[in-house]
Amino acid sequence: MSISNFPPAEIATLSEAQKAGTTCARCGRVPLSPQSLDGADLVVCADEHARVCTDSVFWLTRPCPWWCDSRWHSDHDRGADRHHMSEWTGNVPLVLEDGCEMGAGLSYQPEYATVHLVQGVREIEPRIWCGKGETNHGWYMTPAETRELAATLSSAADMTERQAAPLAVAEAC
Ligand SMILES: [Zn+2]
Ligand SMILES: [Zn+2]
Repeated sequence: MSISNFPPAEIATLSEAQKAGTTCARCGRVPLSPQSLDGADLVVCADEHARVCTDSVFWLTRPCPWWCDSRWHSDHDRGADRHHMSEWTGNVPLVLEDGCEMGAGLSYQPEYATVHLVQGVREIEPRIWCGKGETNHGWYMTPAETRELAATLSSAADMTERQAAPLAVAEAC
């Protein structure tokens, strides 16, 4: 491979390790099989390692789901931390719960319920997490369970707003 494959503008942006030939001039990783560029100290990953010689995170072997905030993925994510996470979160203030301090010296604010999507990179579909604010006190649900819970919560709210018919109240007594 020749250095002429690299536009001068790109060469100017290389790190010191890349310029010294320690890391790959394309992906910035230490090449498993360095291949020198003719006419320069630069090295790139050999062709057989082209699969990981990419700007994207090496363990992402397929595109993220449309809802994933892929900015948080990185090469150093450990296996157990390789999750797609939704950029979207649904937040509902819970004024009947104790207030919570959002940091040392910061004011109290209402607790809140939060919802987001998460999916391990090798899992076949997303899970929906629902829980309290900044805590890990919550649970995972399937999409079907989430719809069922939503309908159940709506039923509970409807019950509080419905007035019992006077006749029904009299019969109950
Ligand atoms: Zn590379
Ligand atoms: Zn993702």
